[in-house]
Amino acid sequence: MVPDGVEGDGSGSGPYGDRVRLANLDGRATIITGAGMIDVERGSKGRFGPDLTSAYERWAELSSTQWDIGTAQPLPDPLPADRLGPPSPHPRQVFAIGLNYRDHVEETGSQLPPEPAVFTKFQSSLAGPFAAVTLPSDNVDWEVELVVVIGRGGRGISEEDAWAVVAGLTVGQDLSERVVQRAAGTHFSLGKSFPGFAPTGPWLVTADELDDPDDLRLTCSVDGEVRQDGRTSGMVFGVRELIAKLSAVVTLWPGDIIFTGTPAGVGMGRKPPLFLAPGQVLESTIEGIGTIRNQLV
Ligand code: ZN
Repeated sequence: MVPDGVEGDGSGSGPYGDRVRLANLDGRATIITGAGMIDVERGSKGRFGPDLTSAYERWAELSSTQWDIGTAQPLPDPLPADRLGPPSPHPRQVFAIGLNYRDHVEETGSQLPPEPAVFTKFQSSLAGPFAAVTLPSDNVDWEVELVVVIGRGGRGISEEDAWAVVAGLTVGQDLSERVVQRAAGTHFSLGKSFPGFAPTGPWLVTADELDDPDDLRLTCSVDGEVRQDGRTSGMVFGVRELIAKLSAVVTLWPGDIIFTGTPAGVGMGRKPPLFLAPGQVLESTIEGIGTIRNQLV
C-alpha cells in the first residue's frame, strides 16, 4: 500500500530539516522549511499566484523573497503523501537523457554516446511523487534519476552560467517499458511514456542548499531491496554540460524538466532480466532532496 505520509529527512532541527523546499501541495506552490509551511500566494499577499508554473516564470523574484517565517503554518508530520503533486506539473518541455552513466552504458551492452542521447517523456506520463503506477506489461523497468527543473532558462547558456538558470532539483523515476522502448529502434520516447511513468518529487530543493549539487548519492529499491546505488558525479554529461548542450539548440523555458539519466542496476541489465510486478513498492531516493515512493498495480 502507499504509505500515507512523508517522513522528515533529519537534515536539520525541524521534522523536515532546515532546508527550504518548494512543494506542490494541493496544487498550490508551497514553501516548506523546518519552521513550517507558507502558501506562496497567501504568504506574499497575492504578489505571486498560487500555481507552480507562474512560480518558475518569476523564479528570480520568488527565490529572493524573504518569507515571513511568522506566517508559517505548522506542518503536519508526517505530511499526507496524497496531497503532494509533481514540483513542476506542467512543463512545456520534458527532456530525458539516455546512457548517461558509464556503468549503465556497460550493463546495457551499449556504446558511450559521443553527445547526450536526448529523448522526451510525453507530458501525460507525469505523476506525483507518491502516485500509484499501473504496469501495462511484465516488461517495466526502474530508473532512478536526478531531475533538473529550469528556472530562468534561456538559449545559448554556457556551462559556467548553467546552475544560475536552474530553479532546483528533485527526484524522478524514468519508468521504461523495454519492449515498446526497443520496438522503434533508438526512438525511446513512447516506451517511457505510459501513464504514471514519470513520477517526480517530493519537492524542489535549490542547488545552493546542497553541499555539492554535482555529487549526490541516488538509490532505488524494490520492496526494500536496493537495486541501484550510484552518485550523480558518475554522469557522462553533468548538469552543467547538459544545459549548455541542450540550450545550444533549443530554448529552455521556466518549469521545463530534465531527467538526467540513470546509474547501473536496472532490471534489463540482469541475467536473466528482472522487471517490476504488481504489488511491489518502488522507492527512489536522492541525498539531500528526499524520497519518492510508488506503489505498482
Ligand atoms: Zn532514463
